[in-house]
Amino acid sequence: MADVVNTLPFFYGSIPREEAEEYLRQAGMGNGLYLLRQSRNYLGGFALSVAFAGRCYHYTIEKEPRETFAIAGGKSHRSPQDVIDYHSQESDGLVCLLKKPCNRPKNMQPKVGAFDDLKEKLIRECVKQTWKLQGAALEQAIISQRPQLEKAIAKTAHEKMPWFHGTIAREESESRLQNGTRTNGKFLIRQRDTKGSYALCLLHDGHVMHYRIDKDSAGKLSIPDGKKFDTIWQLVEHYSYKPDGLLRVLTDACPRHDEDNGKPLFLQSHRSSTKHAASGFLDKIKSVPLPARLKTFTSRLSSNDDNEYVIKRENNLEEALPMDSSNFESPYADPEELRSSTVDRKLLFLEDGELGSGNFGTVMKGIYKMRKTEKHVAVKVLKNDDNNPAVREEMLREANVMQQLDNPYIVRMIGICEAENLMLVMELAELGPLHKFLQKNRTISLKNITELVHQVCMGMKYLEEHNFVHRDLAARNVLLVTQHYAKISDFGLSKAVGDDQNYYLAKAHGKWPVKWYAPECINYFKFSSKSDVWSFGVLMWEAYSYGQKPYKGMKGNDVMQMIESGSRMEAPANCPPEMYDLMTTCWTYKADERPSFAVVEPRLREYYYDISQ
Ligand code: AMP
Repeated sequence: MADVVNTLPFFYGSIPREEAEEYLRQAGMGNGLYLLRQSRNYLGGFALSVAFAGRCYHYTIEKEPRETFAIAGGKSHRSPQDVIDYHSQESDGLVCLLKKPCNRPKNMQPKVGAFDDLKEKLIRECVKQTWKLQGAALEQAIISQRPQLEKAIAKTAHEKMPWFHGTIAREESESRLQNGTRTNGKFLIRQRDTKGSYALCLLHDGHVMHYRIDKDSAGKLSIPDGKKFDTIWQLVEHYSYKPDGLLRVLTDACPRHDEDNGKPLFLQSHRSSTKHAASGFLDKIKSVPLPARLKTFTSRLSSNDDNEYVIKRENNLEEALPMDSSNFESPYADPEELRSSTVDRKLLFLEDGELGSGNFGTVMKGIYKMRKTEKHVAVKVLKNDDNNPAVREEMLREANVMQQLDNPYIVRMIGICEAENLMLVMELAELGPLHKFLQKNRTISLKNITELVHQVCMGMKYLEEHNFVHRDLAARNVLLVTQHYAKISDFGLSKAVGDDQNYYLAKAHGKWPVKWYAPECINYFKFSSKSDVWSFGVLMWEAYSYGQKPYKGMKGNDVMQMIESGSRMEAPANCPPEMYDLMTTCWTYKADERPSFAVVEPRLREYYYDISQ
C-alpha cells in the first residue's frame, strides 16, 4: 500500500502535523484544501490534514485488521485514496468536503520516516547475521518474510537505542540523568516490568520527572491520557517534536553505557536528529534485535567473543521461518562443499518407508553425507522392472532441468546416483503435497495460505526469468518443507524455452492435466510462462479451497467448453475477494492479455504484506 500511496502527488510521507499546516498555509488555506501524510504513531496508518475557515484539521486514517482503511469510527475503504475519494463526496463527520489536493512542491519526494530508513538496514543486518545469508538468498528471504521481520524489528528497535536503559531502578535512572551534562530535556527510557510498562525519565530544571508509559489491551503504548503509539520508537520521536503534555520536549538522549566495556554506546545529541543517532547506532551495531516472534523459540543469544553475537535457535516447526530450514540456501552455497551432479552411492543411505510414488517409481527418504554436513534428502528411485529406456530418458531430462535451477522456492536437485537403480537425489520437503496438507489441516489461516502461495509465485517468477516453462504446476506439485515453507517440484514435463521464441510447442497431445491448462495449451499445444500463470490461478483456487479438486465432477471436455464459453470457477468459500480477483486475472483467455509472474508476484506480495501488518 505504501508504494501506491507514495505515488500520490499530495502524499508528503512522514512529516509532523506542524509541517503539514505550513504546507497548507503556503497553498492558501482554501476551504477543503487537503494533504495526506504518514501516521507517526500508528504503523501502517496515515493522517489527513484539511484546511477550513483559516484553521487546520487533522484526521488519523487507521489501518484496520482486515487491511481496510478508515477515519477512526468511520466507514471502511480499501485504500487511503478511497477514503479521500469518499470524503470528496460526503463530509460524513469531516469538517468539510475535501475539495483540492495540496500537492508537494516540485522535486520534493515523500519524506522517509527515520524508522523506515533504519528499518531497511536493520532487516538486512538481521537476516544476514541470523541466517548468514547473502546475495540472492538474502533478497528472497527479505521479500518473502518482510512482514514478520518488519514487525519484530519495529517493536524491538528501541532496545538498541542510546536512550533505552533497560530495567534499571528509578533511583538509578535519576543518577544517570544527573550525571555529566545536565541539559534541560535530557531523557532516557527505562523498562518497568516485562509486561510492556516503561517510564520516560526527563530532566527539567535540575529535577527528574518520571512519566509512566503503559501498554493497553490492544498493545498500544501511551503516557496516561496521552497519544497512543505502536512502538516506543515512535513515542520518543513524537515527544522530540513537541511536549504535548510533558513539561518540555525531549532533546538529549542520556547515553546508555555499554555494560560490557563501560563505554558509552552513543555520544551524539538526540536533538541532532534521531535519524543520525540511529545510523550511528547502525555503524556500531554488532548484534541486531532478535525478532520478537523468534524469541519464542530461541534458546539464548550468546556472545562468543567481544564483537560477535550468534543467535542459537531451536527448531519449532509451527513457528519456523523458511530461512530456518537448511533447504533455504543452495546445498552448494558453501564453496568448500564439493559441487557435483553425481552422488556417490556409498554416501547415500536410504531409509525404510516411502514418501510417495509417481510415474517413475517410488520416492524414498534418505541421508546424504556431504563433506561437512549430513543432509536429509528425498530420493526418486526408478523402477527397474519394465527396463524401458524411454522412462530412464525422461527421468534424466527432469534431472537436467532441475540441475539448472537454484531458488529457495524450488526443490533443488542434489544429484543423480547410478547404482542398483537410477536415483534422483533431491532436497527433502517432508510435509508433502500442498493440497493434501490443507485437506488435513483446515485450521490453517488465510494469511498462512497467502504466505505459501506467494512463495510459489516467487519460485515461478524465477522460472519465468530463467526461461523455463513448468507445464505441470498444481497444488499436488507444491511440496511443503514446513507449514510456512513451500517448494515447487516435479519438473517431469518442464521445458527450457528461448528468449526469442518464449514458448514450447508440443508435438502431440499427451497425458495432460487439462483442468490446469490454459486454452492455448489445449487448442494449439502452445506452452509458455503465461500458460503457467493460468495453472497458477488454478493452484490458488486449490489452496484457498483447502485442497479441493478444481471443477469437481466435471470431465476435461466439459471444463474446456466452460472456459470457451467465458465462465470460470466460482470463488472458494471465504476466499479473500482480492485473491479471487487475482486468480480470475490469471484465467484471462488470451495469453497476450494475461499477466506474467512479474506482474502477479508483486500483487500477491502487496496483499500478503497488507494482511500481515
Ligand atoms: P513425483 O514422482 O515427483 O510426482 O513424486 C511423487 C510423490 O513423492 C509426491 O507426491 C510426494 O509425496 C513425494 N515426493 C516427491 N518429491 C519429494 C521431495 N523432494 N520431498 C518429499 N517428498 C517428495
